[in-house]
Amino acid sequence: MKDSLFVEKQSMQEPVFAWRECLKAIKENVTLMTFNTWFVPIKPVGLENSILKVQLPSQFFWEWIDEHYNTLINKTIHEVLGVNAKLAYVISEEKETEDDDPSQDTESSAVQPDTAVQNKPQQEFESYLNPRYTFDNFIKGEGNQLARAAAGAISDNPGGTSFNPLFVYGGVGLGKTHLVQAIGNKILQNFPEKRVIYLSSDIFTVEFVEAIQSNTVNEFSGFYRKMDVLIIDDIQFLIGKEKTQDLFFHIFNTLHQSRKQIILSSDKPPKDLKGLDERLISRFQWGLTADIQPPDLETRIAILKRKSEDYGMTVSNEILEYIANNITSNIRELEGCLIKLLANASLSSKDINLDLAKKTVKEIATDRKVNINIESITKVVCEYFMIDENKIRDKTRKKEIVMARQIAMYLSKEMTKSSLKTIGLHFGGRDHSTVIHAYTAIENLKGTDKQLKETIDSLRNTIELTCS
Ligand code: ADP
Ligand code: MG
Repeated sequence: MKDSLFVEKQSMQEPVFAWRECLKAIKENVTLMTFNTWFVPIKPVGLENSILKVQLPSQFFWEWIDEHYNTLINKTIHEVLGVNAKLAYVISEEKETEDDDPSQDTESSAVQPDTAVQNKPQQEFESYLNPRYTFDNFIKGEGNQLARAAAGAISDNPGGTSFNPLFVYGGVGLGKTHLVQAIGNKILQNFPEKRVIYLSSDIFTVEFVEAIQSNTVNEFSGFYRKMDVLIIDDIQFLIGKEKTQDLFFHIFNTLHQSRKQIILSSDKPPKDLKGLDERLISRFQWGLTADIQPPDLETRIAILKRKSEDYGMTVSNEILEYIANNITSNIRELEGCLIKLLANASLSSKDINLDLAKKTVKEIATDRKVNINIESITKVVCEYFMIDENKIRDKTRKKEIVMARQIAMYLSKEMTKSSLKTIGLHFGGRDHSTVIHAYTAIENLKGTDKQLKETIDSLRNTIELTCS
């Protein structure tokens, strides 16, 4: 029946053609990866009284589409088939069958769930990859050249290059998550049968703890050992979690021995992951370690250009250059600035002009500073020296704790508007002369001790980035 319609009349009355028109409009609005992943698999199966019926591969699929593309789908259907048009969907029982049971139809103006048609997701497991992260929308620059090249090579030949593991590191907001997920997405596109999973190391830890509680550690470990590609983001969160490190060590070995691809990201290079098992640190260096540096001016402009186009904004070169010159160390902030600019323009019903851009950049700089306070500074310093936050406040005179405390006081004085008295109070009720003493001690030491100076600069950087 479907086929005969297909051949007989190529008019908009046919579901195939109606849906094809919709696809054309949708394609304009999403990335190719999204399009291929979420829209190509949708099959048009009927069109009656302005109700276009489509078939989706799984309940999971429906949920994803509904969450992310509901508005786009509605808008498109209305444009193509008229304001009264609706989309109805069925969920296929099995991946390969095209038969659909009419009793399973659900009608709605958007795609909506219906308990009657709930099916289990077809996939064995969820990859947790965000289809938004692709190579296609990852702008190349000098700062990410090596990492990007290695990522591309791995995607064509997972487990088969010498880049195993691939260890990507760099500061906050520079594209680590984007890049490692782009590898996962690309591998699934190239090799749909591969088992690819993405997760951050703190989620891994939480799952592990749950597995211990429910006595399912073997299943947990077995699950990850079965992967073809294991992507773990922000591996630095494994620091201090010895049991998780131990389990991860064994999973790592199993996968590596069977030439499965491992991809890791971190905020620092392996050798600086103080507090991580040496065995892991050495394994992390078996493959390729590639850093991502902050983008240079040209790359920042290229990123802003591309993103403004993606958001459908018209922004002059002068404005893009202004933003690129003023937001320099974080790509997430560049993106945030464009979105804020768009919001500011629509709020004030003004065009995007240089004044508005200046105002927006200023707001971003203010937002960045708001969260920098004595607590957040203390947290970063304690994490760096791996000491308990309570220790820094109590009376101990142990050398390394005194040093951490003085550095935290020094940075609090430098980076916040807090008074000496307030700073003293935060560090266990010490009085303001102690703070002055700490401040001058560090200031003097910085002049002679190059390593200390570097430590303080790097702490300052971390504080600025993580507290924004
Ligand atoms: P990180 O994991 O290093 O903190 P993310 O990968 O989350 O950083 O990147 C922050 C934001 O900047 C994301 O929205 C990402 O898509 C974007 N981004 C980062 N690098 C690039 C790039 N080279 N090209 C385009 N967008 C990028
Ligand atoms: Mg990240």
